[in-house]
Amino acid sequence: MIKTIEKTIKLKLLPLTSNERNELLSLLNDYTSMIREALDIIINNDVRSRRKAHELCYKVLREKYPHLHNKFAQEAYKRALAMYRSYRKLLNKWKRLPEKKRKETSQPSPPRVKENRVIELHIDAYKLERRHGFLVLTVSKGNGVYLKFLVMEYGYARRELEGARLGNSKILVEEDKVYLLLTIRRNVEVYEHRNKLIIDINEDSIDCLLVNHDRNEATLFSIRHDIRRIRTNYRRIRKGIQEKVKNPRLRDKLLAKYGYRERKRVEDRLKKITTLLAEIAKEYNADLVRENLKDLRLSGRKRSKQLNYRLSVFPYRRFVEYIDYKFYERSLSVLKVDAKKTSITCPICGYVDKRNRLDKETFKCRRCGFTFNAQYVACLNLFSRSNDGIVAIRSGRLYLVTRKAGPVVPVDVAPDEPPNHMRWLREKPVQVPVISKNSKYRARATTILLQLILFYSNSPCLSYEYYNLRKSQFS
Ligand SMILES: [Zn+2]
Repeated sequence: MIKTIEKTIKLKLLPLTSNERNELLSLLNDYTSMIREALDIIINNDVRSRRKAHELCYKVLREKYPHLHNKFAQEAYKRALAMYRSYRKLLNKWKRLPEKKRKETSQPSPPRVKENRVIELHIDAYKLERRHGFLVLTVSKGNGVYLKFLVMEYGYARRELEGARLGNSKILVEEDKVYLLLTIRRNVEVYEHRNKLIIDINEDSIDCLLVNHDRNEATLFSIRHDIRRIRTNYRRIRKGIQEKVKNPRLRDKLLAKYGYRERKRVEDRLKKITTLLAEIAKEYNADLVRENLKDLRLSGRKRSKQLNYRLSVFPYRRFVEYIDYKFYERSLSVLKVDAKKTSITCPICGYVDKRNRLDKETFKCRRCGFTFNAQYVACLNLFSRSNDGIVAIRSGRLYLVTRKAGPVVPVDVAPDEPPNHMRWLREKPVQVPVISKNSKYRARATTILLQLILFYSNSPCLSYEYYNLRKSQFS
């Protein structure tokens, strides 16, 4: 299967001459004024759709700025519309607050363009090409005027650009540096694999079940991370700044500074964790099985308090975006599985009850008595929901009984066989191993995993642990 993957890379432009800089700043100024004007029109007419925005803004902007490429007008009203939309979202949220709370919080104010440092580059308005060994960015300003800039190219960028298609991008103008935020797309061939890496995404850890059909074994492990801690720490810092710093300019500056740091840190963790998981999966030729984010109802009107909390401490959407990208990049597939109630469902008998979860650590089924480390219950459930098989206990040990397409055996020839609908029980089960020292085979498999994890967990933020089944009891 061919998949298109997309990402943005940040490239630095070589220092501009004063002439180039003036040209670029004049474009930035014009572009910013266009956004302002589009925003005025959009607010005054309460424009909600792209079509309406085009109808009202495009002509006005084109007439007023005939010297600019028409795509800048289009990008300007698109940006203005996005600003207005997010304002409306905030406003509606505010309106829905209970009376008392609404009086305490101030009504969100309509958006304004204070300062703008970004120019959106439509794919038709720029070109990136190699000339005499240099990477040259050509921006079509309009009216036959072209701005040319040299782009710094690192080995990393060269690799990324190879065979990639370009998409709508951006120029970011900072005080002394200018960046190109380049969107690149590429087609990758994705294959399906028998082995699966099943992940359960949590605020403090990513809990995993690696099912290795090739070796007939499965391993539970967990990658702990400190994203929740980072987020709560910075929330405290922000609160402190808001309370203590009275000077609004200084306050904004400090908030921006710490906001930037927080984003950087979280970003760093997300990248590390997702790369680690993708590398493990690559090593074992395993596809990803993850929860379907639609279940979280991210965009729904009614978000539960609990969901809001989960989203405030862990960036699910971005995590999923990164991890999918990294799996596709390595030609591995991604399977999405319904994750409703996976943490309170018994993996053995399917009984659903909140009270199955005795406490944070222990899961005990109220119907069949299955007792297990609560952390990994969701993974086991995701396994059965991925349609690969079921989780079962055979002579006191936990097995994953796989559902592989085998030859159809007529029922009358095999009277002792399990019922027809459980035909896959005839297949050889995959075992969740007790990691034992005297098994060379298993030891090797885990060592590879260990090395990989150690390699990526140089920073103390990532830790891992294996789950030893001996810890659990079955009753
Ligand atoms: Zn049960």
